[in-house]
Amino acid sequence: MISFEQPREIQERVEFVRRVAAGLMREQARHFDEHEHEIPWEFVNLMWDRSLSTGESFRSGAERSGDGPSLASQTLMHVIETLSWGDAGIYLCGPGAGLGGAAVQATGTPEQKERFLARYHEGKPKWASMAMTEAHCGSDTAAIRTTAVRDGEHWVLNGEKIFVTGGHKSMVDSDGLMVVWATVDPSAGRAGMKPFVVEAGTPGLRIAKLERKMGIRASDTASAVLENCRVPLGNLLGTPEVADRTKGFKGAMATFDATRPSVAASALGIARATLDLLKEHLAARGVKIRYGTPRHLLSALERDIVDMEAQLRAGWLLTLKAAWLMDERRPNTVESSMCKVKAGDVVTRTTQKGVELAGPPGYSRRLLFEKWMRDAKINDLFEGTGQINRLVIARRILGYTSKELK
Ligand SMILES: Cc1cc2nc3c(=O)[nH]c(=O)nc-3n(C[C@H](O)[C@H](O)[C@H](O)COP(=O)(O)OP(=O)(O)OC[C@H]3O[C@@H](n4cnc5c(N)ncnc54)[C@H](O)[C@@H]3O)c2cc1C
Repeated sequence: MISFEQPREIQERVEFVRRVAAGLMREQARHFDEHEHEIPWEFVNLMWDRSLSTGESFRSGAERSGDGPSLASQTLMHVIETLSWGDAGIYLCGPGAGLGGAAVQATGTPEQKERFLARYHEGKPKWASMAMTEAHCGSDTAAIRTTAVRDGEHWVLNGEKIFVTGGHKSMVDSDGLMVVWATVDPSAGRAGMKPFVVEAGTPGLRIAKLERKMGIRASDTASAVLENCRVPLGNLLGTPEVADRTKGFKGAMATFDATRPSVAASALGIARATLDLLKEHLAARGVKIRYGTPRHLLSALERDIVDMEAQLRAGWLLTLKAAWLMDERRPNTVESSMCKVKAGDVVTRTTQKGVELAGPPGYSRRLLFEKWMRDAKINDLFEGTGQINRLVIARRILGYTSKELK
């Protein structure tokens, strides 16, 4: 039997983050939107201290306990959705292993996971980032040009990465790390791709600039230049065998299987925030939503609201399913891409409607509708655009390879 009841341990976790989201993040959302690249330290320290004292994690990339089924990923979805209801930009500044940690989890050996992730359980707040995108390649990850050449006991990395979320926080503001994807054989395409851990302070990696953005402006998005950046052989995640070339690209995809549901959860948090405020806003103006009334008797506005609520729930159920599969240690590639596509569509449409249906105040900076509309779109872009995730789904369902359907 399927149970939709929320287990108590999830409820307890969500209660804490709900208070943080409503009390702290919502209050600070406008400030950090208008002061791009300022770090929300109060939030960062609060989440870091809580995670050290309880072992809870607030970002993807956390270690999974044991080998059996767990509730870790489902819990994380609730936590991320709630924090993003508070503010998605501030949520993305949350300390912890994040996307970089997810890459270590997906591709590292047990020894590497221990060595590189232990730092996220001690000391001062730290971040981890992942650098795949380059100026000429985003969706087509196999086209990366950053190279890794073996020189004795080291790999030497050269190239330039752009749009690295948390790049500055991981490498400059903390003793974190960046997982850099580079090719060990440019002629081998995706087979030559390998992930390398570059730890903060490693000579040869320089954060060159911070992007000024439309939305999620609290989150830093950095460019990183690698010039003869030397890392020990053991920083190549996974088997050091260069001959084993099939695993590189698969590791990248496994990372996204784990993190796309987190992006979906964040998107749906923004969508729920919009719907909550919109209904409050309309109620204050005497507009009631007549639930249970036949559809043809509803006003256009009421139909918009109930449609958005239905879409939000559909996106949320897909997200929970993708997370549940992860908790069950089962493959989730299709579900992970599906929930991200759906959530990206839902949040984009819902936030646009928020601006529209709230009337002129929806467009004003006095309220957060316009900010949520700006924050929403990224969820349809990073970690695979809507189009790319649709391709992933189609290939899996129809049984095509990436060469056959592109
Ligand atoms: C704020 C922000 C944060 C980011 N953070 C990170 C990060 O932490 N790490 C990282 O590595 N990258 C990051 N990125 C990069 C992001 O993942 C890429 O922007 C994304 O993958 C798309 O790549 P692109 O921008 O090169 O677009 P392109 O690949 O050039 O695509 C342009 C358009 O064409 C479409 N398209 C491309 N190929 C196809 C196809 N075969 N079929 C149909 N449509 C297609 C795309 O969907 C898109 O709409 C970030 C980007 C942003 C904006």
